[in-house]
Amino acid sequence: MTDGNTTALNAAGGDPSEARNLLFGPLPNVAQASGYADAPPRMGFFTDTSVCIGCKACEVACKEWNAVPEDGLELTGMSYDNTQGLGASTWRHVAFIEQRRPLGGGREPEAGGGGFDAFEAARQLGSTPSTAPDSAPAGAPADAISPVSPEGRTELRWLMSSDVCKHCTHAACLDVCPTGALFRTEFGTVVVQEDVCNGCGYCVPACPYGVIDQRKEDGRVWKCTLCYDRLGVGMEPACAKSCPTDSIQFGPLDELRERAATRVAQLHSAGVTDARLYGESPDDGVGGDGAFFLLLDEPEVYGLPPDPVVTTRDLPSMWKHAATAAVSLAALGVAAFARRPR
Ligand code: SF4
Ligand code: SF4
Repeated sequence: MTDGNTTALNAAGGDPSEARNLLFGPLPNVAQASGYADAPPRMGFFTDTSVCIGCKACEVACKEWNAVPEDGLELTGMSYDNTQGLGASTWRHVAFIEQRRPLGGGREPEAGGGGFDAFEAARQLGSTPSTAPDSAPAGAPADAISPVSPEGRTELRWLMSSDVCKHCTHAACLDVCPTGALFRTEFGTVVVQEDVCNGCGYCVPACPYGVIDQRKEDGRVWKCTLCYDRLGVGMEPACAKSCPTDSIQFGPLDELRERAATRVAQLHSAGVTDARLYGESPDDGVGGDGAFFLLLDEPEVYGLPPDPVVTTRDLPSMWKHAATAAVSLAALGVAAFARRPR
């Protein structure tokens, strides 16, 4: 194992004389850049949210396999989502997003129903789906809610998405860790060793996705390991194994990227033009994610940052400026000392 990107300036297949900032930009072989001479193919997740049914089998399998403790069974009162987000004790999180989408297409209408009773409308919609396809429920503001379509659909839809650590190509969590508790594996994934973590918490604000989190009891950080122990013996991660719809797919990252491009093309030709990939491009702000997604709406809708950038990107230039300032100050001090009256 190795502590990451900064020590391996020439290991990414480039000219040794052209050492560059490996904290940013595309990095074709992330494991090799971290010191693994004969690394296996980079492994990752492709999460196709278009087929997620929100069963949470992935959350449960993750907890079971990794012995992750229970982290609250409260309901938020806003959705069926009881875990609310990724955290030290939630390494997979299935988001439930309820949206209004007009049946004929277009965007979600502006909020503000003007006292409209949604429960009454839902009751009416549910009772007459096939007999009143063209009439709005009584009490609905004109054009504010569509009736049920002949095939029984309404303009309400659920987006479900199983979120996870992105196993970034440029992982700021790993870059800032002073103890080496976070490391890059031979599979290109990012893993934290809880017995080495000293609880300093530097990695928490460094993560551009807000993934890594400390446990209150002792401050140590925890997150998805992409089931490093299972990968080591040729098994797939527990969440992918348990997903009944193959929303979570595991495999060599190059292969997953090809599969994802095919799936997007398939959805586009079926009229789902909002389908897009997130975190798949090596040219993005983190050099591409080891765990990327197919989304059906803007990333913000799923609580994902639209344009994440590795937070350590500017460290080399910051250190350069700091060094220049220190040298200038030292030179001024020496000059003042030399000129003082004797
Ligand atoms: S998503 Fe956050 S915790 Fe996961 S590898 Fe990237 S920086 Fe680290
Ligand atoms: S990703 Fe798969 S296992 Fe997880 S909630 Fe969706 S369908 Fe269920």
